[in-house]
Amino acid sequence: MRIVLLGPPGAGKGSLAAVIKEMMDIIHISSGDILREEMKKGSKLGLEIKGLVEKGALVSDELITKLVEQKVSEDPKLSKGFALDGFPRTTHQAQELDHILAKLGKPLDFALCMDASLKVILTRLTGRRVCRNCGALFHIKTKQPKKPNLCDLCGGELYQRGDDNEDTIRKRMQVYEISTKPIIDYYAAQGKLKRINADRETEQVRSDLIKMLNEDKSYQNQKSSRN
Ligand code: ADP
Repeated sequence: MRIVLLGPPGAGKGSLAAVIKEMMDIIHISSGDILREEMKKGSKLGLEIKGLVEKGALVSDELITKLVEQKVSEDPKLSKGFALDGFPRTTHQAQELDHILAKLGKPLDFALCMDASLKVILTRLTGRRVCRNCGALFHIKTKQPKKPNLCDLCGGELYQRGDDNEDTIRKRMQVYEISTKPIIDYYAAQGKLKRINADRETEQVRSDLIKMLNEDKSYQNQKSSRN
């Protein structure tokens, strides 16, 4: 299955991608993680990226497309499929993705748009904490770690992302409205759009997704050919 996850920051694309990865044994590619890896290196490119990300702005279409293409085509598990989270974020990126997938002969199955409201997004993101080591997600109120500031899974240190403060979140939302929302129409025109109410808890979103997939013929076909 080849899936794109769309939706505003804080809609839960990363959390749902992890669920999808587990369910379908496909790879999860997060453009935000790719950029944060580059930022961690402290290279000239990493510093340039950091400047943009911490302002809530987008990096260039050319750069992110190149980085994602590298990651997608390098992965030995690509043939099983992928869940792309955070990419595409502009219509140009969506067109580029279609070209890349056409070259590989592996078109997208569907784009899943996760709809979430600003109030929910602000609560989720201002309280979000991330493991520096394995990337697991926690929340200061709704998903506290067992030991303060330490990851339950690997014991790594938890930190708050530089762009998870209220001012930057509002800026990221504006960028989403202007640059990313038009992609919803792009996929609707291709007949590939599915939508889900992402204001609800991850468990509920997960069961909505399972219900949706059970009604999807191409998913059922792929599932039976795997078994
Ligand atoms: P979120 O979805 O919560 O905003 P991400 O981790 O996906 O978080 O992205 C963090 C930041 O990385 C974005 O605000 C943006 O600056 C940059 N970024 C991620 N993906 C892209 C992309 N496809 N195009 C341009 N910039 C991107």
